[in-house]
Amino acid sequence: MKFCSDCGSLGLNVEMDAHGTALRYRCGRCQATHYRNPRLVAVCLAEWQGQVLLCRRGIEPGHGLWTLPGGYVEAGEPLQAAAARETMKEARAVVDELVLYRVYNLPKFNEVVAVFRGTLREGRFAVGEETLEASLWSKRDLPWDALAFEYSRAALHDFAMQRWQSVYASPVQDLVWLQPSVPKPSAGAAARPVTAPREPLRRRAAPESAQA
Ligand code: ZN
Repeated sequence: MKFCSDCGSLGLNVEMDAHGTALRYRCGRCQATHYRNPRLVAVCLAEWQGQVLLCRRGIEPGHGLWTLPGGYVEAGEPLQAAAARETMKEARAVVDELVLYRVYNLPKFNEVVAVFRGTLREGRFAVGEETLEASLWSKRDLPWDALAFEYSRAALHDFAMQRWQSVYASPVQDLVWLQPSVPKPSAGAAARPVTAPREPLRRRAAPESAQA
């Protein structure tokens, strides 16, 4: 934060709050206090017949890598609605019976990621906005070397291990080991095109018109 969004003053001070628990930006001119809260991200783990829907990103960060469809929650928007909206945007898919699956705290990015599980309606999807490709992946065939985000890796790991059936798997987890940069595919992954079709394990998205 470089200036006060209330009065435009550049005279911002960083002060400890009254409880001694958090640093606040406080304007020296108008005395406004500015809070810095985590950004919320809502993500879908959409299943169809034991497979999970992944999108290959068409934008940075993580261009060309696979991830669960998702994105930032808008102001006033319910979490699950944001997960459904982003899945429709990126994969042209409707997901039914959304239930909260995992929550990841990402303090390095000042973000909190909520992952919802649900069922892909009629198994239908297509390539949407900001997406190069959309595919269904079996648990045995997930693209571990070409995932965009650490929260995708964590959620897919639990999905692959079927850990949602365990009472010991906490639904809220800290991803404190995250590096600030997006991991790139390893040399081995680069040598093996991640887009290589492996039918029939993976069902690939047809153009949207063919899905309708
Ligand atoms: Zn001010």
